Amino acid sequence: MTKQDFHKPKTVEDAIALLREAGEDARPISGGATLVALMNARLVQPSRLVSLSAIEELTQCTHQPDGSVRIGAMRRHRQTAFESDLKAAHQVVSCAASQIANPPVRNMGTIGGSISFADPAADYPPSLVAANAEIEIAGPEGRRCIPAEEFFLGWYETALEPGEIVTAVILPPMPASSIGHYEKLCRVAGDFALASVAVTIDFDDNNTVSSLRLAVGGCGGGPVRVAAAEDTLIGTELETDAITAAAELLVAELDPVDDVRGSAEYRLKVVPRLLQRTFNNLVDIREPAQ
Ligand SMILES: Cc1cc2nc3c(=O)[nH]c(=O)nc-3n(C[C@H](O)[C@H](O)[C@H](O)COP(=O)(O)OP(=O)(O)OC[C@H]3O[C@@H](n4cnc5c(N)ncnc54)[C@H](O)[C@@H]3O)c2cc1C
Repeated sequence: MTKQDFHKPKTVEDAIALLREAGEDARPISGGATLVALMNARLVQPSRLVSLSAIEELTQCTHQPDGSVRIGAMRRHRQTAFESDLKAAHQVVSCAASQIANPPVRNMGTIGGSISFADPAADYPPSLVAANAEIEIAGPEGRRCIPAEEFFLGWYETALEPGEIVTAVILPPMPASSIGHYEKLCRVAGDFALASVAVTIDFDDNNTVSSLRLAVGGCGGGPVRVAAAEDTLIGTELETDAITAAAELLVAELDPVDDVRGSAEYRLKVVPRLLQRTFNNLVDIREPAQ
């Protein structure tokens, strides 16, 4: 690759034009944590790299007056984990970001790069589905937003069309009383998830669950959400029987594979325990020890 093939535009529109001009072999580059490794291994050889790092609007995290939060695609995992002041159920996203890999990767990788690559074991996808997030996308036709649930299509596959980039993740307003939490099981500290569970939840005055969204990661091509499992928990006080029933419904819908991190069978055994651990920790978050 020659030097002329690297570009660092200052606006989203210029980035889109540069990608369009070079055609299908051009790639946006954000943190480079994954793309540079793929290039070093000669698995991809882009004809043009368009860095998104100088586009100011992509680096911002903005708290809107209506309570929604717009996280720019270039926000590093470290910033999303520790510097974005995410509150209430939005914390499912900072909690996931804080568990990505290790400090060097969290300093380098971005939320836009991570979700565009869509590794099925990545930490953001289940957390964004649980948070009911929207993904903002820019392309030659302008900007559009789609729910996270419709963005992740399967193994390393997203709803991005050729020439489009992710510009932001938008978290909808959440009640101040809501809670978000993310649990991940991995073989060794800093590894991708063998399985993970993300939840956002709120309670009514009687201490019963009034709303809940639940997503599982690492057990299929993308995050899995099972409405029947959520319905089983709504109206309960998260008794063990209710969690067990929800876990059974969840496991019935999962389709994990055997890989270097573990067998499909092991993953299906892990998910119910991870679900129980998630709710145990949620109770601790709600009622911190005196
Ligand atoms: C050692 C190591 C351990 C890791 N462990 C974990 C882990 O535990 N959990 C986890 O979730 N992740 C993990 N990752 C992945 C890490 O989170 C990366 O940051 C992430 O996959 C890619 O983000 P990036 O910003 O570096 O993207 P890049 O490497 O720059 O790009 C990745 C891909 O996305 C495309 N792309 C980049 N930005 C955009 C955009 N805005 N719009 C459209 N396409 C875009 C690129 O063209 C490329 O194809 C790990 C990575 C490494 C190297």
